[in-house]
Amino acid sequence: MAFKDVPGNTRVKRILKLALERGRVPNSLIFGGPPGAGKTDMALTLAKALNCQALADDSCDDCPSCRAVDNGRHPDVVVLAAEVRDVKIEQTRFLKQMAYLRPMTGRRRVFVIREAESLNDPSANSLLKVLEEPPSFCHIILVTDSPHRLLPTIRSRCRTLAFSAIGREEIEERLLARAFSREQARLLALLSRGDFDRAQEFEWEKVQELRDNAWTLFEALGSAERPGLFLERFGSVPKAAEEEFGEVLEVFSSFARDILLLRLGGDPALLLNPDYEGRLRAAAAAWAAPRAVAVVEELDRTLADLRGNLNKGLLALTFFSNVTELAHV
Ligand SMILES: [Zn+2]
Repeated sequence: MAFKDVPGNTRVKRILKLALERGRVPNSLIFGGPPGAGKTDMALTLAKALNCQALADDSCDDCPSCRAVDNGRHPDVVVLAAEVRDVKIEQTRFLKQMAYLRPMTGRRRVFVIREAESLNDPSANSLLKVLEEPPSFCHIILVTDSPHRLLPTIRSRCRTLAFSAIGREEIEERLLARAFSREQARLLALLSRGDFDRAQEFEWEKVQELRDNAWTLFEALGSAERPGLFLERFGSVPKAAEEEFGEVLEVFSSFARDILLLRLGGDPALLLNPDYEGRLRAAAAAWAAPRAVAVVEELDRTLADLRGNLNKGLLALTFFSNVTELAHV
């Protein structure tokens, strides 16, 4: 893909294109930012642009060099550690040896190290020298969701480009281009929480199932009979349920926003869950607007905390107790 095909992060693209035009792409780079922000795609596009036979500041996606990178068969572009948690010391030794060899066919030798935060100390230390004084023809791109977990000595030797989560509108537009309806794309974009990779993996049937389950829990939260249903499910959040917990909260947030919209007399065409309009109207009739606002706020806060590394079970408890209290607003 060319830079325009990599989602979001226009600032990073601008910096890289300028650097390419001027022939001044830093040799040691960190691409850091949240999961699904397009860091690896950006790294591979940069690797292609550095070697493209047709363009100076982008990938043409068509010349033999660009195609070889796409096929994973370019001798000068090496991607390490996609699936291993630990970049082994032998791999970094190999990288160090390779780094000083002139490129075989391309102009630049590029190493992309994914999940660079899992470099163990010996591997990281063995990389320091090459990161400090890389040969002019060699670029090392460390890709990581957690740049703060890299050794300070690594960070100080690299130029860090900070990636941001992809905007909801952009994810929505890209999903629309992939045969989702406007309503589906709008909801999926919300559920993806800025993670473009996740957005691409969604299957509509699974999302329907998730919404049905979430509605049962959501309704129970406000009912006198079974308010504890949510806690039965998420009172302790085992690792395996963490992703589902986040997804359920995201769906709750879409329900609460819809209820608020209806409560304020907004246009039903703007509902995130138009197929739930009947149930949402029934709920909206029973909810005062301040309660809807407070629940939306509570969900935003919980979702923000969820991104930090707080105890999920405690988050679920706090959320539950705050929201059930709001039922009496
Ligand atoms: Zn090309």
